[in-house]
Amino acid sequence: MTKKAFKAESKRLLDLMINSIYTHREIFLRELISNASDAIDKIYYRALTDENLNFDKDNYFIKIIPNKDERTLRILDTGIGMTREELEDNLGIIAKSGSLAFKSANELKDGYDIIGQFGVGFYSAFMIADKVTVISKSPDSETAYKWESDGSDGYVIEPAEKASLGTEIILHIKDNTEDEDFDEYLEEYRIKSIVKKYSDFIRYPIKMDVETKKKIESSDDKDDYETIIEEKTINSMVPIWRKNKNELTEEDYKNFYSEKHYGFDEPVKHIHLNVDGTVSYKALLFIPETRPYDYYTKDYEKGLELYSSSVMIMNRCGELLPDYFSFVKGLVDSEDLSLNISREMLQHDRQLKFIAKNIKNKIKSELLNLLETDREKYESFYDSFGRQLKYGLYSDFGVNKEDLQDLIMFKTSKDRSYRTLKEYVEDMPEDQKYIYYASGESIEKIDKSPQIEAAVDKGYEFLYFTEEVDEFAINVLMSYKDNEFRSLAGNDTGIESEQIDVDPEKEKDSKEILADMKKLLQGKVSDVKLSSRLRKHPVCLVSEGDLSIEMEKVLSSMSDGNLVKAEKVLEINPEHSVYNSLLESYNNDRDKFELYTDILYNQALLIEGLPLEDPVDFADKVSKLM
Ligand code: ADP
Ligand code: MG
Repeated sequence: MTKKAFKAESKRLLDLMINSIYTHREIFLRELISNASDAIDKIYYRALTDENLNFDKDNYFIKIIPNKDERTLRILDTGIGMTREELEDNLGIIAKSGSLAFKSANELKDGYDIIGQFGVGFYSAFMIADKVTVISKSPDSETAYKWESDGSDGYVIEPAEKASLGTEIILHIKDNTEDEDFDEYLEEYRIKSIVKKYSDFIRYPIKMDVETKKKIESSDDKDDYETIIEEKTINSMVPIWRKNKNELTEEDYKNFYSEKHYGFDEPVKHIHLNVDGTVSYKALLFIPETRPYDYYTKDYEKGLELYSSSVMIMNRCGELLPDYFSFVKGLVDSEDLSLNISREMLQHDRQLKFIAKNIKNKIKSELLNLLETDREKYESFYDSFGRQLKYGLYSDFGVNKEDLQDLIMFKTSKDRSYRTLKEYVEDMPEDQKYIYYASGESIEKIDKSPQIEAAVDKGYEFLYFTEEVDEFAINVLMSYKDNEFRSLAGNDTGIESEQIDVDPEKEKDSKEILADMKKLLQGKVSDVKLSSRLRKHPVCLVSEGDLSIEMEKVLSSMSDGNLVKAEKVLEINPEHSVYNSLLESYNNDRDKFELYTDILYNQALLIEGLPLEDPVDFADKVSKLM
């Protein structure tokens, strides 16, 4: 039998496990029990539709068997088991094990934290065992197989004997050393307390043969006891969501969240519902703090687990969550749903719709509550999922406005931190007519852009739109509490500028020039105007019409040929010395005038972050000037 080597990452992790600090060791049991429970879930789920599998609740259990003489601890389950290939794939490569996939090599060095917080699955067995044997039988395989490893350099797989489906894991417990005691993991009381601590809510019975003292009936001596061995279920099994809120601690919810693999973070909020009424249900929902790595990709699937009287009937029911709350994790359990409800029926199910609506409202109000009571947590949540809320505003033509407009925030020019629309509007000065925003790649770039000068002059606060979705979302929202949104780069900002009204004389003089420039820039801009918004900069581009320049950028990055164009207006600052040069060239040197026009237009493109049509030509022209 040839030995196969572990993959490199696995080896690294193994070393880490083997040398981990004492306090983390006990979690090996949590990991193995959770794997066993997952495996039973799988066969349970499959038995719902597969007639060849026995569908009987009592068949599903986990059993722990310590043996001090052999110095082994065995963990048996009646789950789905593993074929030869699965043993190889699942236990030979660590990358499969969830938590580690996201950790970089650097973080691995501080691996103690990973172990403490999430555990790293199956490999944690090597913290307390110097040899691990796995015997497993899958319904997809004729024979059982044995996987064995001493953790140091590889593993062996060979055929084995096992009558029933499921997996048996045999841990050969390490010998004690001078300062380390491994015996404790063979002690009944210790095993019981670890199970209670981490695995109490596992839905399947975790059984163990425990010693109990019984009074000997026949004896007259009341202190005459005999010790008998009885099989007992050592976890309480009542699912956490069926318990009373006041029996549970914050810690219980957090443990449940990580046991269920909802995320590697700590949720910012849990919502525990117990609703009695037209439709009765219980729900346990979590709002995560950090977003899953695939959150904004097509691979991410929203949904809650669905239970009917504590029996799982669907592991991801998408109908229960609106897209804009797709980050919510958790489950719903209702006695009013039938067990054999089919997928298609679910979509039309009245009860389900009712529950979904209730849940949506509850999530909304809890988020608002978090916003008011724990701003820091809300902002951290918003950093991860704010974009999704804005997508929500944009999609479905704004029907979700009411649900979402008070949950969104933008960083603003006030102090570059998040502000809600409500906060913005409350602070608006009397004479400010609109809610202003400026779009750009980053706050720094926006701060440098010419379009904001007038607003800054006025002391008006404006929102920074730095995400692609921002302007689209706001276009759908249109107004907040009767205050319209206006782009500072739009044609009509409604900002009256007392200081610099364009001089009527200049305006008159400029008519022909502007018309000439417009002709020269035909097809590129829809108009050329003197600007009343510019202070320091010579030129800028603004947009007329519904499509802004930022939106043009977004849309053309999404399509291959850029079909959509914003209607652009080139604004020129009449107070800038450049304008005088322009005037002069117009009167004296036609070639120069055309050159200036072209350069100014290209400059404006550059400032906007738009691509130049002909960069080489632009560079040549600038050189010529010099
Ligand atoms: P994770 O549970 O995060 O996937 P683990 O390292 O704990 O990572 O387990 C790796 C894989 O091994 C599991 O995903 C599962 O496919 C398989 N596995 C582990 N234990 C069992 C078991 N008792 N029965 C069936 N499959 C198991
Ligand atoms: Mg696991």
